[in-house]
Amino acid sequence: MNFSSKLLENAVNEFSRLPGVGQKTALRLVLHLLNQPAHDIERFSDALTKLKTEICYCEICNNIADQTICEICRAPKRDKGLICVVEDTRDVMAIESTQQFHGVYHVLGGLISPMDGVGPSDLNIDKLVERLRNEDVHEVILALSATMEGDTTIFYLYKKLKDFKVQISTIARGIAFGGELEYVDEVTLGRSIATRVPYERSIA
Ligand SMILES: [Zn+2]
Repeated sequence: MNFSSKLLENAVNEFSRLPGVGQKTALRLVLHLLNQPAHDIERFSDALTKLKTEICYCEICNNIADQTICEICRAPKRDKGLICVVEDTRDVMAIESTQQFHGVYHVLGGLISPMDGVGPSDLNIDKLVERLRNEDVHEVILALSATMEGDTTIFYLYKKLKDFKVQISTIARGIAFGGELEYVDEVTLGRSIATRVPYERSIA
């Protein structure tokens, strides 16, 4: 692309670094922004700046939050003894939208993937073990995607957690097979959490 302005080129280059955004789309977005009132652009850039500088990760569950302890972990009504382990914050949002789950979460921040060089130490696993050691947890639900990485991570977590006096369950993965959690519809996801099965039985 031949740009008539270096500033335009810079903005397009920044947008095209986003996943799924090519140069043409980037140019369209930048030209759209250029036509907006100045205060709208300020609000837009302010949201981006604060995203990085002000967002926290909950000290208990590692979910994205505005404070050091997230709203879910702070809610008195939540069952702190029921922990749902998920890959990332999108899964928390998907499960929350089912309104079927009243426990708390533990966000791993990824899945074990030797192909991508992601090992257990890159994930938020030690903190989960610590929670089981220090808190009165009665059940851990492993709600991870039905992919090879999801299976590997579930098996690893099972080995890590099985010696604690805690029920380990997985969600009905036949239903969600081949799909990431966030793409499963709310009714199906809600049902699969309600009908979760003990992990030992699911591998038999
Ligand atoms: Zn939290």
